[in-house]
Amino acid sequence: MTSTTALNETPGSVKGEGARTAEQIELTERHAAHNYHPLPVVLTHGKGAWVTDVEGNRYLDCLAGYSALNFGHGLPRLVARATDQLRQLTLTSRAFFNDQLGPFAEALCELTGKEAVLPMNSGAEAVETAIKVSRKWGYQVKGVTPGTANIITMHGNFHGRTTTIVSFSDDDVATADFGPFTPGFVGVPYGDIDAVAAAINDSTVAVLFEPIQGEGGVVLPPEGFLRQLRQLCTERNVLMVADEIQSGLARTGRTFACDHEDVVPDIYILGKALGGGLYPVSAIAADRVVMDVVRPGTHGSTFGGNPLAAAIGHEVVQILKTGEFQERARVLGDRLEAGLQQLIGQGLLAVRVRGLWAGVDVDPALMTGREVCEGLMRHGVLAKDTHGSTVRFAPPLVATEADIELLVATLRTVLEEARR
Ligand SMILES: *Cc1c(COP(=O)(O)O)cnc(C)c1O
Repeated sequence: MTSTTALNETPGSVKGEGARTAEQIELTERHAAHNYHPLPVVLTHGKGAWVTDVEGNRYLDCLAGYSALNFGHGLPRLVARATDQLRQLTLTSRAFFNDQLGPFAEALCELTGKEAVLPMNSGAEAVETAIKVSRKWGYQVKGVTPGTANIITMHGNFHGRTTTIVSFSDDDVATADFGPFTPGFVGVPYGDIDAVAAAINDSTVAVLFEPIQGEGGVVLPPEGFLRQLRQLCTERNVLMVADEIQSGLARTGRTFACDHEDVVPDIYILGKALGGGLYPVSAIAADRVVMDVVRPGTHGSTFGGNPLAAAIGHEVVQILKTGEFQERARVLGDRLEAGLQQLIGQGLLAVRVRGLWAGVDVDPALMTGREVCEGLMRHGVLAKDTHGSTVRFAPPLVATEADIELLVATLRTVLEEARR
């Protein structure tokens, strides 16, 4: 592992804003849409778990591109594979075969235990793909009355930003003034197996869920929920569709978050870390009885399954096969959890950890999640708030134990400063 901790990253060394930072922020805000509210830091370089801003300040990256960077910035074997393929062949379109997609698909089938994969680019596209495949399976295999299919979704979900996907979001900011919305979705409380059972009817084709709600604030379902859901879906002939875009690919200490309950969904939805943080690569994986409802012309993407994406995705799968990163997530996660637990009552109200992935609820009487993140940034740690008073920590899995200690110590400092 390449990540190092230099002396100037000790808590208390306050980062300042400079002219280069101000110039880049002004330029971006003037010419780009304001669909994000970034922290005022302008990054220019990344290596392992660390990034450097245009002023030369270094930061521990505790967001890791929302877990797209599970393997860190610039992992040499990923960069090498991508560079080789970049020189060789980048795009064929699916009008022709290429020599990278087959090996990638074979490897991803082996990793997921599924018979087929369908490659796309962004996570939202993979979710859309799962929705389309589930509906077609409902009509063609299950025998649902044409035009009536419904999919059960969870309150507090995040599955992406397309018109159909925001149709079943209950986040007002994500949905306001984007209607009319796509019908055919029924929301139930997250982790409530009785509510799922009650919502299923003859036209239900799938239950779409996150095994852990990442954007929701690293929210874990009740113990046993995934197993109960698996059983329910089997009994009622409904597809169990797991959005593992953020929870999957080693983040939680297992390859998939569903592995924690030894559960295999009917469809895996993958993205983010599947592209190693250097290219958008997403996919769904399912058995033939589901996937074969897709016929030529029914679905596709110009870039989906392109040779560059496939080469990178294949390398990611090979990295995951060693189990090394799953193990790191477990060991580092235990360390993170122990450290964060000690801050409960010191400014934190609750801590939720699974692998190297934590959501902490900050006492709103003390400070907002945004203020915590601004404080962390000034002390050299980058993280992102969600839903007002929650801060999420998901450092790259190449982080060292010293990095994790630094993260906890810096959070302690920020909370102490606020309590003073
Ligand atoms: C990020 C994310 C998505 C959307 O992925 P994009 O690549 O941003 O479209 C969907 N589902 C979950 C659980 C995510 O975390």
